[in-house]
Amino acid sequence: MLKKDFSCGIISNMIDLQDIWQDALIELVKNPSINAVAYSIWIENLKPVCLKNNALVLLAPSQNAKDTVNKSFFSYIEDSVKRVRPTISNIDVITNEELALISKDSDFTHGDEFVVSSNKKTAVDSPFIARYTFDNFVVGESNKLAFYAAKSVAEKPGSSDGYLNLNPLFIYGGVGLGKTHLLHSIGNYISKKFPSLKIVYMPTENLANEYFAALEKTSSDKNAYRNFIDKYNSVDVLMFDDVQFLKKKIGLQDAIFHIFNSLYQSGKQIILSSDRPPKEIETIEDRLCSRFEGGLLADIGIPNLDMRVAIIRKKMMMEKVAVSDDVVYFLAEKIDTNIRELEGALLKVILYAQLINKPCPDIQTAKEALRVSDAPKKEEIDSNDIVNAVCTYFRINKSDILSKKKTKDIAHARMVAIYLVCDLLSIPLVSIGQIFGGRDHTTIIHSRDKILSSLKTDQRLALQIKDIRSLLNV
Ligand code: ADP
Ligand code: MG
Repeated sequence: MLKKDFSCGIISNMIDLQDIWQDALIELVKNPSINAVAYSIWIENLKPVCLKNNALVLLAPSQNAKDTVNKSFFSYIEDSVKRVRPTISNIDVITNEELALISKDSDFTHGDEFVVSSNKKTAVDSPFIARYTFDNFVVGESNKLAFYAAKSVAEKPGSSDGYLNLNPLFIYGGVGLGKTHLLHSIGNYISKKFPSLKIVYMPTENLANEYFAALEKTSSDKNAYRNFIDKYNSVDVLMFDDVQFLKKKIGLQDAIFHIFNSLYQSGKQIILSSDRPPKEIETIEDRLCSRFEGGLLADIGIPNLDMRVAIIRKKMMMEKVAVSDDVVYFLAEKIDTNIRELEGALLKVILYAQLINKPCPDIQTAKEALRVSDAPKKEEIDSNDIVNAVCTYFRINKSDILSKKKTKDIAHARMVAIYLVCDLLSIPLVSIGQIFGGRDHTTIIHSRDKILSSLKTDQRLALQIKDIRSLLNV
């Protein structure tokens, strides 16, 4: 079934997978049915690998993870993805083994590509990530050249800025520092201001696949290669994201060289991004390198502390969430080289705070959320920590768990706590009985074994126990 779904030869309109997934995650965390720990164990580990024929494919780290996600979270994921991208009609969660099959047997490609003739787009189906705008980009010392150059290009695509040649505009810098954000900002801006211009955005990883697919097809369709070239030759604005992935394949760079020359000569705008300057990309040929260097090279550096603080504040405003100033500085000091990670950390703190009912998280909460706390490691854990974690998780009073009460929720939480104490600590059963309100050791054995046997079939229980282990940092 997978093979059939993904081996279709047409590369459909695709957009930046990472960004769709990031947007979907933001929606997902608003869902009260997904708690922070479940999120960090099951959802966060999914990786978007492909978007094809309107199906988003997510890679799960194991068969067990795939089954759990399908069973417990699929509908939430589906809802969120469809909310951020109404054009996506299907979600598939696959394992590495399935991915290998698809990659081998079809023209499956990682990443994404899209072509827009802006006047056909509406706000809803624009392929550019709506929140990646110039307005949402914090400008500082480390990125101001790239920002202003991107803005100039968006305002007057293809025309030189008098004394500055901005064609091509080559933006480079480390991972998670805003290159894709700027490319999308250009796309969003041009789509709005010049709706008739045709814009192509393409992550470079896909170019080789598209090129070889075109070559392969020429035996049955003699126009296939011409179509490939024409697609790029006919655009007004061409964006290649992450050109460090440009492969050294015979013919490919030649084709790009010709596309580049043709666009350049007709005054079309070219924008490139990379994690390093052109000269340092070993795989690109000299003549292409000198073309890439022919306009403006604008680097994005690591933001300083003030900028990181400003970025966190901006994200808080955009997501309508709040954390105290202490926490803002704590995060900004702790995560200093990658803005994507900084955003991820903020999200984790907010989720964790929701879980433990702290509307405005303090430093301690933030540390716990990021597991940099003085949270006990396995060897330091005692039964008290376990009981506390179970109570926090199930929102049950400690006195109830240790009492004789037999209501369903309390009894369940108690059995889980007993199971975890047995599993994590080397304490005699009799002593465990004493910890749990003076129960007999046979009751302890019964509770432990009941959970053990339920775990074989009950995914929900497995999820709860994983969550609690994670709270305990084990
Ligand atoms: P890159 O393409 O360089 O790897 P991205 O453009 O994907 O990085 O940026 C990663 C995340 O960081 C995105 O969510 C983006 O919005 C955010 N980001 C990066 N730089 C800034 C900035 N200056 N202001 C606001 N957000 C930023
Ligand atoms: Mg990027």
